Amino acid sequence: MIQCPFCRSDIHPEATICPQCHARKGYGSNNDGGIHTGGSISLLAIICFALIVGGMLIGDMGYIFAVLGGIGLPFCLAPLARGARWYR
Ligand SMILES: [Zn+2]
Repeated sequence: MIQCPFCRSDIHPEATICPQCHARKGYGSNNDGGIHTGGSISLLAIICFALIVGGMLIGDMGYIFAVLGGIGLPFCLAPLARGARWYR
């Protein structure tokens, strides 16, 4: 069992939502006020990576996509490297 950092109740180690206070475990908040799960943040990282590779393959104007992907990628990878945290 682990302890919820907000309400101190015991929760299952695999749980991603605290049953008591509904705190959520994830990798940062998204634009909708939700929480990124490991899956969604990995998907974003893959999209950024695809932008970089795709943009370089296209060349010319495609480099704009490569630059955008290059800017986005660290923002996706940093939370993954840091690990999941609890948010409420
Ligand atoms: Zn809680």
